[in-house]
Amino acid sequence: MSPHEPSFYFPAPRTQNFCSQCAHPLSHQIPPDDNRIRDLCEHCGAVHYQNPRNVVGIVPIWGDQVLLCRRAIEPRLGKWTLPAGFMELGETTEQGAARENQEESGAQIKIQSLFTIIDVPSVNQVHFYYLAEVQNDLLAPGPETIEAAFFDLDAIPWDELSFRTVATTLEHYIQDRQRGGIYPTHHYAIDFGLRD
Ligand SMILES: [Zn+2]
Repeated sequence: MSPHEPSFYFPAPRTQNFCSQCAHPLSHQIPPDDNRIRDLCEHCGAVHYQNPRNVVGIVPIWGDQVLLCRRAIEPRLGKWTLPAGFMELGETTEQGAARENQEESGAQIKIQSLFTIIDVPSVNQVHFYYLAEVQNDLLAPGPETIEAAFFDLDAIPWDELSFRTVATTLEHYIQDRQRGGIYPTHHYAIDFGLRD
């Protein structure tokens, strides 16, 4: 059993101060035969590489409506989002997208094509959204979601969306739908030099 309330815990920053192999303080320098600064342990030799993380999610469509979830967690608590989250080890992007949907909306879905791939270098992430067909209107949102609801495409709460990746994915979906319902994969980058 956890010794603390859930609110006690937080995702650790990616910056590391100590070596996870030998517990000595890390230094920040370019290793031999490398070309960028790494977290390096001068005591045991471990190089602690850091690489981008994948966020995986879906665009759940139910007829003329899209399913959105209101976030019960930070960041952007209370804002509306597409079901999405960090990919876990040992799963494919598609499995991760389906799992995140299961956790956040509980809707039964059938995943279709990969719809957006969005590079977000300012936060070291790549986001993948799959189109998905919702199978019925039964929802079972989990603890990360305040409520899940279907929105008409002309009633999306644009000012209350959680992230630019969500807004631009929805914009692409509406555009493609208006242009005849062909949904190619859109690949683009979002980088304002600010945290998004
Ligand atoms: Zn070490």
